[in-house]
Amino acid sequence: MTADLMIGTDLAAEMVAKTAERAHALQEQYGVQPCLATVLVGDDPASATYVRMKQNRSKKAGIASRSVVLPATTTPAELVAEITKLSGDPAVHGILLQHPVPAQIDERAAFEAIDPAKDVDGVTMRSFAAMAFNDTKDTKDSGFRSATPGGIMRLLAAYDVPLEGAHAVVIGRSPILGKPVGMLLLASNATVTYTHSRTTDLPAIVRTADIVVAAVGRPNFVQGDWLKPGAVVVDAGYNEGNVGDVDFAAAAEVASLITPVPGGVGPMTIALLLEQAVDAAEAQTS
Ligand code: NAP
Repeated sequence: MTADLMIGTDLAAEMVAKTAERAHALQEQYGVQPCLATVLVGDDPASATYVRMKQNRSKKAGIASRSVVLPATTTPAELVAEITKLSGDPAVHGILLQHPVPAQIDERAAFEAIDPAKDVDGVTMRSFAAMAFNDTKDTKDSGFRSATPGGIMRLLAAYDVPLEGAHAVVIGRSPILGKPVGMLLLASNATVTYTHSRTTDLPAIVRTADIVVAAVGRPNFVQGDWLKPGAVVVDAGYNEGNVGDVDFAAAAEVASLITPVPGGVGPMTIALLLEQAVDAAEAQTS
């Protein structure tokens, strides 16, 4: 293997420790403990595990959890009503709707029921616009970053990956991952190419990338011989059996830096979510 690893675990632990200090300070100064509500619909075991992980990590960060678990038969209106209630509850500072949701649910309507001030997972149109307009983190009214794209940007920054003028190829265009990570890279002056399932000759495009972000949802999809030697590879994929979207062994022979799965993007996603939960609590308190 020639690539160095871009490890998220330690960096995420540092972020969580800093978040815990801020949560503690808020409690000391205002008597307010930040609270993150998680909403889980249905009984998908992987989703239940993700929610549990987020709640455990919240505890480490001094953030209280409010757990809402709804049956798989929940109607779209019932879910919207539940989220609207959390949006109006002053004791809840951040809301996370675990996705995917069951097929009968209108996911967009459910996301939009989240008060943008509590959208710490960065899934609403307001947050999307904030990322598109480079309006995150600057003012009290700034929008939130989608958690995985925001986590990826922090990882790239921590490893001093030069973004300005770099060609970044994003594989995937989902509204919570592919599209926003491309927008954040663009805001950092990368030249961004989006690719997706209808892209023709994907390997040829990937070969021109200085930075590749794989957000496909297909195990071992990106091949080592698609990569330009020295490319930086970010694998956002998380497939069954802890397998990423990149053929890690082959890619690590060609890349200069690569994220492992697990231990790369995953922990950064949760760390950013918790950091944003405290951002939200601070903004709603002071
Ligand atoms: P998604 O909504 O299913 O989107 C997948 C994207 O990949 C789509 O844009 C799709 O293109 C594209 N795609 C599918 N097949 C392709 C192909 N053959 N060639 C090129 N592009 C193709 O998935 P997502 O929610 O963005 O998640 C992507 C991956 O990230 C999954 O493995 C997921 O588990 C992982 N993830 C990880 C975290 C984390 O915390 N680490 C968080 C969220 C997601 P079309 O638009 O044309 O269909």
